[in-house]
Amino acid sequence: MTHQPASHPEHLRPDTLVVAAGRPPRVHDAPVNPPIMLSSTYVGTGTVVDGDRAYGRYSNPTWDPLEEALSQLEGATLPALIFGSGLAAASAALSLIPTGGTLVMPIHSYQGALVMAQEQAAKGLFTLRTVDIANNDEVIAALTGAGEKAADMLWLESPTNPMLEVADMELLCRSAQAVGAIIVTDNTFSTPLVQKPLELGSDIVLHSVTKYLAGHSDVILGALATSRPDLREALLHHRSIHGAIAGPFEAWLALRGLRTLALRVERSQASALELARRLDTHSGVEKVLFPGLESDPGHVRAKAQMSGFGSVLCIQVAGGAEAATAVVEALDLWTPATSLGGVESLIERRRRHANEPDTVPQNLLRLSVGIENVEDLWADLDQALDQLSQPISGAGL
Ligand SMILES: *Cc1c(COP(=O)(O)O)cnc(C)c1O
Repeated sequence: MTHQPASHPEHLRPDTLVVAAGRPPRVHDAPVNPPIMLSSTYVGTGTVVDGDRAYGRYSNPTWDPLEEALSQLEGATLPALIFGSGLAAASAALSLIPTGGTLVMPIHSYQGALVMAQEQAAKGLFTLRTVDIANNDEVIAALTGAGEKAADMLWLESPTNPMLEVADMELLCRSAQAVGAIIVTDNTFSTPLVQKPLELGSDIVLHSVTKYLAGHSDVILGALATSRPDLREALLHHRSIHGAIAGPFEAWLALRGLRTLALRVERSQASALELARRLDTHSGVEKVLFPGLESDPGHVRAKAQMSGFGSVLCIQVAGGAEAATAVVEALDLWTPATSLGGVESLIERRRRHANEPDTVPQNLLRLSVGIENVEDLWADLDQALDQLSQPISGAGL
């Protein structure tokens, strides 16, 4: 690798690391930021296979600083691997399950990852056991196999999408280790600033870099981080051979976005908590799902294993699916769109997606809180919810 790591990254706090990690060596007149390198191939001898890079599908110098920064943030001892999308990273991770093996996965996993696992299971590549990830007994039974084969992989996502259930990460990782299963944690919702899956016992951390890490809703990118050389080698091989690589511009944009991650997360988390509290007492809201609320079933676990509660919250609107749709339509500042983790606040009714499990309520709205002023976000939600209680046909006042 031509890129020198920052001098003592382990001594730096995470909110410093997002700024300091992945910088070019300090050489006179060198750029402060790593440049974008556009090359599909690299000069070698042409007579023997030599050099570290060889070809653009195997490596690109623009990937290195981002992979270094993500690895340092997650506390991995090896450079992370970036992929063309979060699902490309998920595909590489699922490839580690031996043929005929067993995968245990939350029923409320990110939809794309769940569909991928379901389709691969339907082809007979492996057996899929979906679980309520907040229910320890159920997950442990699925891991040990209760008379059947034990699991080969445990997929963790906590908090889950979109139900925001919180898994008992350390306990489940120990249980998975005991049966020899590889543990993959999708840490997209939390970011490494809020939750450190490798420290909690996970083997691999997965990110949709698309979301908080890049942070500006203008990039699709994924990443995996691990400290296990055997797993990293297999994942790197998968990336090189299956070809789901990142474009250099996307990698560059993601590192640029990462520089402000700590500020963005701090702001959006504080706003999410404030909005959750206010929504919790609003007459137009049946229920708020957010582990930051003391009344939330995941609160105690979240407090124990996360340094915050994230910036995604869900509400169930009083009056069912129609009322939930009316709220989305009445909003002005909040953008109706899927995805999360950008600077702008987004909202969507999840059951509009055909693949969403029917355990997700019809009246559930998922809110990704951005970095706007919380009072403007609240005013918009409040007026939209208040319209529900107005008579539809308007005599007006
Ligand atoms: C968006 C998302 C993914 C998929 O990432 P893409 O970058 O869209 O491929 C995976 N997991 C979670 C939790 C996500 O939010």
